[in-house]
Formats: sequence, structure tokens, C-alpha cells
Amino acid sequence: MIYVVSGPSGGGKSTLIRRVLGSLPGLCFSVSHTTRRKRESEVEGRDYYFTSEEMFRKMLRRGEFLEHAVVHGHFYGTSTREIRKAAQGDIILDIDVQGARQVREKVKRALFIFVLPPSYQKLKSRLERRGLDSPAEIRRRLDRARQEIRSYSRFDYIIVNDDLEEAGRELESIIRCNRRQLVYCRKEIAPILESFRKKRAKRR
Ligand code: ADP
Ligand code: 5GP
Repeated sequence: MIYVVSGPSGGGKSTLIRRVLGSLPGLCFSVSHTTRRKRESEVEGRDYYFTSEEMFRKMLRRGEFLEHAVVHGHFYGTSTREIRKAAQGDIILDIDVQGARQVREKVKRALFIFVLPPSYQKLKSRLERRGLDSPAEIRRRLDRARQEIRSYSRFDYIIVNDDLEEAGRELESIIRCNRRQLVYCRKEIAPILESFRKKRAKRR
């Protein structure tokens, strides 16, 4: 199953995803390709695959991406290879709203979660406090947020990330709850059902 987490930059997507990866077994993170420069705190292959524009375009031509988009002037994309990592379990994607729309068109088994900051002001102060982007970059991200917010209605779930503990619990609950759908637990319950059948056979 694919879980797509989207929403404006600074809304808390990666913070929430990090939490849920730490608390839920059987869930892995989809590492995207990007042409933007690596930040000091980031690790190649853990946060992103940092890729040249030439290589990104080559991969695009070869049809290696499930989705891709230009975000804040750089290419970002989820490779189909990355998604295959999750053949046996669940995978969580942190992607922008354009990418989420492409996944919606291509993948049946996917759930779409939108992370909304509590207000524009709080988003601004979070981006500033995060200290990763220049003032010009922060302005660009805030401008873009005004447009991205409008996509909320195309998502299955909305998390308002005000209190971090609560928002984290909500994301975890959405995934836990989804996993209990009959279609996803047939394999798990098969031996339980089988044990009941054997008992009845013995009595006869
Ligand atoms: P995104 O991945 O959506 O760009 P981040 O997860 O990097 O956003 O969060 C942006 C900043 O806001 C980070 O510094 C993070 O620690 C902080 N943050 C995230 N969620 C909350 C919250 N609920 N309350 C306060 N600060 C938060
Ligand atoms: P950042 O540069 O802050 O890491 O990410 C900027 C934006 O790009 C975020 O909104 C993030 O969700 C989005 N993003 C990251 N990876 C991908 C991806 O593979 N595809 C798309 N469409 N967006 C991505």
C-alpha cells in the first residue's frame, strides 16, 4: 500500500513521517530523486538521491518515474524502482501536490493525506525557525503554499499539524486503521480461519 503525504513546505510532513516510521513496523520511506543541492544535514540515499539534471532527464526519458514535478525550480521524482521496495509492505511518500495528483491517476492502492499548518503565520514562522532556506527561498515557498493549499479537497485525509503529538498520532491512526481493511488482512487471517476449520473436522 502506498501512503502519499503532501502539503506546503514547512507544514511538518517530514517531521510527521519520521515519527510514524519510528513507531510503525512494516513501513518504509520512499527516497525521491532531486536535482536540488544537498543540505548540510541531509544524507545521500536516506533523504534523497541527489541527481544531476542531465541524469534526471535521462531517467525521465526512460520512463523510470512513477511521478515527477518541478518544485521551487528543481526536479523531484519518485522512481518506480523505489516503489518496488515496498512490494511486501507499505511505503510512505513525501511529495508535492502535483506529484500526488499523478499517483492518484496511476495507482489504485494508495491513500492520500494532506498536512495543513494551523495558519499562514505559523507556516511562515516554522519555515523561518527551521533555518534551512534563505529569506528569498522562504518567500517563494510561502507564495507557493497559497496555491498548494487549494488542493486539499483532492485528498482522503486532512491532518492539521498544530500540536505535533496529536498530529503524529493521527497519521499513525490513519495507517493503522487502513491496514485493518479486509482486503489488506486476508493473508494474516487465513491461518486463524484455517485453525477453526481443523477443530470442527476433528470433532466429527
Ligand atoms: P515539511 O517537511 O513539510 O517541509 P518539516 O517537517 O521540515 O516540514 O517542518 C518544518 C519545521 O516546523 C521544522 O523545523 C519542524 O521541526 C517544525 N514543526 C513541524 N511540526 C511542528 C508542530 N506541530 N509544531 C511546531 N513546529 C513544528
Ligand atoms: P524540500 O526541497 O524542502 O526537501 O522539498 C520541497 C518539496 O518537494 C516538498 O513539498 C516535498 O514534498 C516535495 N517533494 C519531495 N520529493 C518529491 C518527489 O519525489 N516528487 C514530488 N512531486 N515532490 C517531491
